[in-house]
Amino acid sequence: MFLAPADTPGIEILRNVNTGVGDPADGTHAYMRFTDVRVPADHLLGPEGSGFEIAQTRLSGGRLHHAMRTIAQARQALDMMCERVLSRTTKGSLLSEKQFAQAAISDSYIELEQFRLFVLRTAWLIDQQGYLAARKDVAACKVQAAKVLQDVVGRSMHLHGALGVSADLPLHRMWRQAPWMGVHDGPTEVHQTTVVRQLLRGYEPHPGLWPRMHLPQRLADAQVTVAAAIERAEREAAAVTG
Ligand SMILES: Cc1cc2nc3c(=O)[nH]c(=O)nc-3n(C[C@H](O)[C@H](O)[C@H](O)COP(=O)(O)OP(=O)(O)OC[C@H]3O[C@@H](n4cnc5c(N)ncnc54)[C@H](O)[C@@H]3O)c2cc1C
Repeated sequence: MFLAPADTPGIEILRNVNTGVGDPADGTHAYMRFTDVRVPADHLLGPEGSGFEIAQTRLSGGRLHHAMRTIAQARQALDMMCERVLSRTTKGSLLSEKQFAQAAISDSYIELEQFRLFVLRTAWLIDQQGYLAARKDVAACKVQAAKVLQDVVGRSMHLHGALGVSADLPLHRMWRQAPWMGVHDGPTEVHQTTVVRQLLRGYEPHPGLWPRMHLPQRLADAQVTVAAAIERAEREAAAVTG
């Protein structure tokens, strides 16, 4: 991993692209071209060959920060949802009295609080055992961040009706960040793959034809165990009475 100053010959910023991050006009992300760019050896960040390690360390923290920011955004969307349903009357009652609206609020609260605790536990794991030990959970937080943001912000927009999809509320900006959350720092599928790869390391194939929880086999095994135990108990009882 290395740094190349922006004025290095061969680096071209072709145009800014709007990724939905921050102000659309601020141009924080660009379409760039690199042509025969030469990088002096002292522009390396860290030792040669350690780029992946550096990237993973930076990205693990970054991914968890994305998850933390998602919690704040989803919380704001939930707060807005709750305020709105207590304020808007339609078809003779407040939105808060309609069961579909209640389900949307309850689902959002449950999803958000589960996610908050998961992120907190993952941060704790990083503090206790380092990034490597928390890899699976960091990847899982990244997957879930995109989903929670989409779910909670989507419900909040929906319960605000036409106002929710207008530019008068911040919800449309939050909504635009949900697909972004599923792509930047690695797309969701890549993180799902990481979760599964790490998870399966703790398992091995079952030894015989049947899964270990195959009930007929477990019963047969238990009968053998129990038969031996009964026989032993009977021998001990006979010894006492005899
Ligand atoms: C706002 C923003 C900020 C970013 N910041 C940075 C940054 O700071 N540093 C940096 O290095 N990069 C950054 N990126 C780049 C980002 O990491 C990549 O865009 C992302 O990894 C997806 O790669 P790609 O765009 O080449 O899409 P592709 O690799 O073409 O992926 C497109 C789609 O293909 C599917 N796909 C891809 N790979 C797999 C797979 N292995 N298994 C199954 N399906 C798959 C997924 O559906 C994925 O969404 C940023 C991107 C955005 C949008």
